[in-house]
Amino acid sequence: MAYKTVNPYNNKLVKEYPNATSDEIEKALSSGYALYKKWRNQPAIGRTKILHKIADLLRKNEDELARIATTDMGKLLSESKGEVELCAIIADYFADHGNYLLKPEYLDTSSGEDAWVEKHSLGVLLMVEPWNFPYYQIMRVFAPNFVVGNPMILKHASNTPGSAAAFERIVEEAGAPEGSFKNMFLTYDQISDILTDPRLQGVALTGSERGGSSVASEAGKNLKKTSMELGGNDAFVVLSDADLDQVMKVATQARLYNAGQVCVSSKRYIVADNLYDEFLKRLGEEYAKVKPGDPMDPNTTLAPMSSKGAKETLQKQVDAAIQAGAHLYQGNQPIDLPGQFFQPTILTDISHDNPAFYQEMFGPVAHVYKVHSDQEAVDLANDSRYGLGGIVFSGSKEHGAKIASQIETGMVYVNTFLYSLPELPFGGIKNSGYGREMSQIGFEAFVNQELIYAV
Ligand code: NAP
Repeated sequence: MAYKTVNPYNNKLVKEYPNATSDEIEKALSSGYALYKKWRNQPAIGRTKILHKIADLLRKNEDELARIATTDMGKLLSESKGEVELCAIIADYFADHGNYLLKPEYLDTSSGEDAWVEKHSLGVLLMVEPWNFPYYQIMRVFAPNFVVGNPMILKHASNTPGSAAAFERIVEEAGAPEGSFKNMFLTYDQISDILTDPRLQGVALTGSERGGSSVASEAGKNLKKTSMELGGNDAFVVLSDADLDQVMKVATQARLYNAGQVCVSSKRYIVADNLYDEFLKRLGEEYAKVKPGDPMDPNTTLAPMSSKGAKETLQKQVDAAIQAGAHLYQGNQPIDLPGQFFQPTILTDISHDNPAFYQEMFGPVAHVYKVHSDQEAVDLANDSRYGLGGIVFSGSKEHGAKIASQIETGMVYVNTFLYSLPELPFGGIKNSGYGREMSQIGFEAFVNQELIYAV
């Protein structure tokens, strides 16, 4: 059985889950399709009420849900709780704004006739989600599409089945109708089959370039709409006028949050030469302070990585980077605990021909670069196959924003963490994917914008 929870803190197998059967898949598609037909003629109000109930239940069950996520993939319990709260905020937001977001848009026509664009549901969607935020990744797609009236089938990561099942329980308990949301432990082959089904209208995937490219090409063959939220190699740019005390309040967490397993983690620090030595020293001191341990223990500040495989991949990348000439400034020593811990590591002197230069390292490893001008910082930030997010620090908001807008990614934050809120669009360009989730832009990802022209 491919779907299983193996606690990455102690490597114990918690539970295995059988794959979905063909009958279950057929039932999910047929009940989803029947509900789509019914929902299409109903106002969103019934769905928004259920969505508020989901938010209430998430808050009420926060502790239990957080423990399930931490057991599945190892993140700190406090971070899991924060994630559950963020999901509740997203659910409330789309429940509150659903009617407004669905309102028709009236058009000025040259003929003077009436024309407007209505916003309707599209049909059944498939969501394919990763393990790193096992609830939030679902909610980003679930909340807007539930309001729109698109029934959803979830294929979650094979190492977070407990979180997937828990999310489904909450949705059911809130009174969502049959067919509206079905968690399924699907194989890749079953996904390929579902993508050929005419009842399915779209796929939202968050994950790696490899997974995204594979699912997007299958979806493309079948003319299904897709949105792809893929990897990133975000820059954290420290400009020469930045206040290092302010920078250091954000720098460590920007990389080490969730054991460094965040698509928008600051994977490359790009630092002006006048601040470089001091920044590196202080970053090293901060990284050295983290306390690995049981992620359920509030005193722990470094969680294990999500799986043995994830840790092994990162170790290979770091070894190859050092072999190719990168300087190991700090870290990369074994941690004497049974779980999948990786010591926070800082690499410098990564040359352009080092394989690490273009790689996303999905764990607590930072690359630090020195630059001699704003232009050099921008050029280096943009020298990436990815284009997801980024952070710029400057003593002046205007200067920071000017540099931010020269960075070729989907989102850049100035003088703060890159955090996610339901009213802000989330997504990238280049190999980080296409489309946006959340905000009005994400809300409309799977909406039929139907023109009515009436004479
Ligand atoms: P992954 O291997 O692509 O897995 C993500 C999801 O896709 C999982 O459910 C996985 O299922 C499924 N999947 C992978 N290949 C598939 C295929 N050929 N057919 C059908 N399903 C497939 O990604 P990951 O390595 O676990 O996740 C980390 C990556 O996600 C990083 O690159 C990170 O930056 C990115 N990410 C991006 C965002 C964003 O919003 N842009 C957010 C979070 C993470 P299995 O688990 O069964 O393989």
